[in-house]
Amino acid sequence: MADLTALRDAMRDFTDARDWTQFHDPKSLILALVGEVGELAELFQWLSAEGAREAATRDPLRTRAGEELADVLLYLVRLADVLGVDLYEAATAKLASADARFDVDAVRGRAPEKA
Ligand SMILES: [Mg+2]
Repeated sequence: MADLTALRDAMRDFTDARDWTQFHDPKSLILALVGEVGELAELFQWLSAEGAREAATRDPLRTRAGEELADVLLYLVRLADVLGVDLYEAATAKLASADARFDVDAVRGRAPEKA
């Protein structure tokens, strides 16, 4: 998808301009990604499921969640680039696999069961 490619290229430019490519090994990027997922989780940590659903529709949580989601996406895109993974292609393939695995008529309205 063009937007992911543009984001990948922007992250390359951002990183190269600062000479940070040397720090963007897979292990460091994975830890950074997990850290950002943790920051996202922290926003919802002590809310009830229904409270989280409600609070996420308005500020400040809505804006903060968007910021952390952006951090997660940026590190994910950067990690995929460093690993040589076409993120759009990989995600599209996974979605097609899930579509084949979970027949609509068989699972509609039911949580997936563990394999
Ligand atoms: Mg963050």
